[in-house]
Amino acid sequence: MEGRGKLIIVSNRLPVSLSRKGGKLQYQRSVGGLATGLASFYREYNSTWVGWPGIAAEKVKDDAQNIKRHLKRENCVPVFLPQSVVEQFYHGFCNKTIWPLFHYFPTYAVFSDTLWNAYKRGNQLFADVLEDILRPGDTVWIHDFHLMLLPAMLRKRIPDLSIGFFLHIPFPSSEIFRLMPWRDEVLRGLLGADLVGFHTADYVGHFLSSVRRILGYENSFNQVLTERRMIQADVFPMGIDYKSFRDAVSSPEVKKEIEKIKQRVKDNKVIISVDRLDYTKGILQRLVAFECFLNRYPDWRGKVTFILLVVPSRIGVERYAQLKRELDEMVGRINGKYGTIGWIPIWYLYRAVPKEVLSALYAVGDVALITPLRDGMNLVAKEYVASKINGDGVIILGELAGAAREMGEAIIVNPLDKGQVAKAIQQALEMSLGEKAERMIAMQQRLERYDVVRWANDFVERLRYTKEKQMVFSGKKLIGEEEKKLHEDYKKAKRRVLFLDYDGTLVGFKDKPEKAKPDEELIKILQRLIGDEKNDVVIVSGRDPYTLQNWLGELRINIIAEHGIWIKEVDEEWAMIELFDNEWKEKVRPILDLYTDRTPGSFVEEKEFSLVWHYRRCDPILATVRARELKDALLQLIANLKIGVLEGNKVLEVKNTSINKGRAILHWLAKADYDFILVIGDDWTDEDMFEVVPQEAYSIKVGFGISKAKYRLDDPDEVRNLLKKLGGAL
Ligand code: UDP
Repeated sequence: MEGRGKLIIVSNRLPVSLSRKGGKLQYQRSVGGLATGLASFYREYNSTWVGWPGIAAEKVKDDAQNIKRHLKRENCVPVFLPQSVVEQFYHGFCNKTIWPLFHYFPTYAVFSDTLWNAYKRGNQLFADVLEDILRPGDTVWIHDFHLMLLPAMLRKRIPDLSIGFFLHIPFPSSEIFRLMPWRDEVLRGLLGADLVGFHTADYVGHFLSSVRRILGYENSFNQVLTERRMIQADVFPMGIDYKSFRDAVSSPEVKKEIEKIKQRVKDNKVIISVDRLDYTKGILQRLVAFECFLNRYPDWRGKVTFILLVVPSRIGVERYAQLKRELDEMVGRINGKYGTIGWIPIWYLYRAVPKEVLSALYAVGDVALITPLRDGMNLVAKEYVASKINGDGVIILGELAGAAREMGEAIIVNPLDKGQVAKAIQQALEMSLGEKAERMIAMQQRLERYDVVRWANDFVERLRYTKEKQMVFSGKKLIGEEEKKLHEDYKKAKRRVLFLDYDGTLVGFKDKPEKAKPDEELIKILQRLIGDEKNDVVIVSGRDPYTLQNWLGELRINIIAEHGIWIKEVDEEWAMIELFDNEWKEKVRPILDLYTDRTPGSFVEEKEFSLVWHYRRCDPILATVRARELKDALLQLIANLKIGVLEGNKVLEVKNTSINKGRAILHWLAKADYDFILVIGDDWTDEDMFEVVPQEAYSIKVGFGISKAKYRLDDPDEVRNLLKKLGGAL
């Protein structure tokens, strides 16, 4: 990262946790996937990790400086969260709203303004700490659902940052996501990033369709185009520290633990499962399936032991306490019903275990039964595969875990289909060693290659690439020296011509084309420009001549209508630039009408020499599909005619191909010897003008996107400001 600024990693929790025992502060290294995964990576990049140290601010008030110093040695910077924020932000909005909703448990989700405000506050506290550390040009990688507002907050405070965001949980279908009352803010928060990463292609798809449906921003090639920026979404399935799990199995400590377990289970086959206690993990449903297995395959009774490791999580939350009660009850019931003097079917452990024990469990497990109801990725599945060094193991994986997308060699099941899961257990227990090894090796090769360090490097590299790609879209903003030069050239000039597009350039887009009537301010701006006799001002629009005459006819202004069919020069009547044939309309109109009937909210606008199908007010997904179909249908129909189908901003326009704005303005360019030429436009129809003007002209694209224009302005307000200054009104 040398020469590119620092890399800062941000996550809710630091990889180091603080606690107080008997008045003394204790530092503990966190174990979770992210912490271990990024540990080696962030040391290698000499980066800093910003996060909450896991203890409420009030409890460490007097030690804050000490803690900061201590954590600095680990390259960590703490964000101190007050107890109320911990409660309402972390335990509240994160765990009671986002977690259930994003895991498809909408009925468990709490929607409360108080919690939402705490979420904003939590994100702001992170932004405050980061603002002190970050400088323009730095790279920030923000992790997970706790901090979805942070990308936009940072972008606002320090625009020139590279911001990456990775979501470790699923991004739900837009039908679920849209239930959240604060959906717009959350999406806008995420769109503050340059790169947004997910575990699977499904999550990327859900995110993009939510952005399109809720905010109306289109995407192509996983790139979202907003008014100002291009944001890339992409898939990065998180890997594990593969070598550490593979090598652990051969270590003396783990071998000792393996022996201990073997003494208990004797010759029995072993099924294992490892989860945090959470309703998303499908533990109860898994037990139902295991019971079904014992029922349907009685020969296996007494010959198999199910080691169920459940790690305590979110203690004190009622929903979790209730789940724990149900779990205890169900394990007791199954063990009571099927157990014998010498055999207990389920060996149930409710605790966190040291890594040696975990590795030993993976090693002895003949079958890993991992069947979450919904899981962003599921690292346990990958850790199990890495630990089966001799290939002697089978993984049964629920299809709703992100890991199932990558691990096709597992036995994939529907976690709610108890019969299917029971059959899968039987199949796994009876599978030949050859088949087991074949499946395992294929998965191992992939997981070894794409380990957690590769995952992290891949993400950071892609973020850098995204920044480069953005340059192509953004063009050069007309500010500073360049803007000054434009004003000087304008003043010096003896004869000037100004070509101005109308919609999207002089006025913003409205949902109905007729609503974009010029306001008083715009009329004044134009009057001042026209009033200067050195100026020729030309409005170059795609609209029909009647509307333009109606709106601007009072002014002594030049107008080009319908992208260059009609021309009206000052003090003259409307005239056609050339004679165009119009017969094709009869053939095309019925198709447009058919698509209008099939697409609610769309309508056809008939212009003198073109037909336009508008779909701005339609359901965006349906409209995109229909627009593509319509374009195909039209292209077939018009194959032998001299007309073309052009895609505009939520419109399809069918018209004579020899008509364009570039050709139309040639008329002026040939007319006089201008020493100042200005051309401003916002969409692809204006590109024809940018192309025909001479090199020294000032061409300006409004908004952002690839363009032949030399400069860029953000929106019609900025255009008006420029024109006001030129006209001397400011
Ligand atoms: N794990 C742990 N202690 C335990 C059991 C498991 O640290 O006693 C780890 C396990 O190695 C895995 C993580 O917890 O890396 C669980 O990750 P996963 O993606 O499977 O589920 P999550 O808890 O993130 O929903």
